[in-house]
Amino acid sequence: MPLQEHNYWLTTAEFPQTQARPLPNRVDVAVIGAGFTGLSAARTLAKRDAKVAVLESETIGWGASSRNGGMVLTGLKLGVNELISKYGRERTQRMYAASLQTIDSVEQIIREEAIDCDFSRCGHLEVACKQKHFDDYERQAEVIAREFNHQLRVVQRNELSAEIGSKIYYGGMVDEVSAGLNPARYVAGLGRAAMKAGADIFQHTRVESLQRESSQGESGWKISTSRGTLWAREVFVGTSGYTGKATPALEKKLIPIGSFIITTEVLPGVMARELSPRNRMIYDSKNYLYYYRLTPDRRMLFGGRAAFFPETDQSIRRSAEILRRGMIEVYPQLRDAKVEYVWGGTLDFAFDIMPHAGQLDGMYYAVGYAGHGVAMATYQGQKMAELMAGDQPENPFVGIPFPGAPLGLYNGKPWFLPFAGIWYKFLDWVS
Ligand SMILES: Cc1cc2nc3c(=O)[nH]c(=O)nc-3n(C[C@H](O)[C@H](O)[C@H](O)COP(=O)(O)OP(=O)(O)OC[C@H]3O[C@@H](n4cnc5c(N)ncnc54)[C@H](O)[C@@H]3O)c2cc1C
Repeated sequence: MPLQEHNYWLTTAEFPQTQARPLPNRVDVAVIGAGFTGLSAARTLAKRDAKVAVLESETIGWGASSRNGGMVLTGLKLGVNELISKYGRERTQRMYAASLQTIDSVEQIIREEAIDCDFSRCGHLEVACKQKHFDDYERQAEVIAREFNHQLRVVQRNELSAEIGSKIYYGGMVDEVSAGLNPARYVAGLGRAAMKAGADIFQHTRVESLQRESSQGESGWKISTSRGTLWAREVFVGTSGYTGKATPALEKKLIPIGSFIITTEVLPGVMARELSPRNRMIYDSKNYLYYYRLTPDRRMLFGGRAAFFPETDQSIRRSAEILRRGMIEVYPQLRDAKVEYVWGGTLDFAFDIMPHAGQLDGMYYAVGYAGHGVAMATYQGQKMAELMAGDQPENPFVGIPFPGAPLGLYNGKPWFLPFAGIWYKFLDWVS
């Protein structure tokens, strides 16, 4: 098959149909964005009898939620020592416990809603590109065991062949709690679950602006969309890397970053077992990292931040070449394997590389998953919905400082990304 610029996962999933109804006049909550964050929130809110409208400018799961690697990962992007020095021991312990809980939240929803998405607790493997990265694994595993009572297994270089069929790494670290799934099937299932709970999903409905406005003596929001206006008592924003002008305060706090993926043809069983004997979710220790896994039908899925700008036709084509070269460096065995699909998507980073949730300008939001969003977005959607419904759920990410750009030098257009790309490559070289 010739290379297709198309998301492989979409060839495996069926998305729920929605009817093109007029927008309601009034709802309790308008959710912006129909990805993991928005749909998870909509499902929880609708189960609590709220009248919910999900407004999505494209289609269900169109954003990062159908385009990702399907790695359901424990942990946060920042290292534990950095977290402890920033937030203190007690809050970091709560954050780490929450990161483990996120995996349970995904598993529970999949079970309750019977979502057929190949969820499997296969664990993840992080591999060290340098000796000093490996030395750091031993220190991290020790801190995580001591502070968070969670066991990671450090794998010495001479034992690594039991985990991965590549000879380029200095060792690895395994977390058995992480999982893998098919993201397109999962987000389609979440959409179905939200609708079954009673939420209305309006596809092809772009939110253009939001204005504070009272209605029938209640304060709320007038929401102007590409398909007319509606009024909502509360607004919840789950737009991640696709956050735009409708929510300018949030847009200025987020950096959209392009990430790209290729998948090979279906590999012979013996070859697939050699590449990944335990079928782990794998990523390396670089800033400019590669992440990879086998798909349930035995393709190698290989991703990376091959370009720093969000996806365009040109960046997708260039990424296919860059990623194929990267894949062959890791796995020379794949030199002759055909690459059949390439696609890109946009994820969001906050300036402190932390997830953030709370209220900004009176709107609720959850964003900033930095490539760890499959589990965290599901969890944040649920927790923020519980908060909006009047509960006081445990959520250690609410209330932490949410920094903007240094010196305020950012208007939502990421002019500095090429420099950030060069900077990360430099850091990978020196660290
Ligand atoms: C290539 C790639 C690989 C990744 N791999 C992994 C991985 O393996 N593991 C992991 O944990 N995370 C991964 N991530 C990150 C993860 O996919 C995201 O963090 C997660 O999907 C975010 O979900 P979301 O619902 O917040 O946002 P999205 O799924 O991006 O949804 C946001 C939605 O908001 C809509 N929207 C935006 N503005 C408006 C508006 N004004 N009106 C109406 N709708 C609007 C968009 O159309 C979009 O559908 C990856 C991301 C990418 C791009």
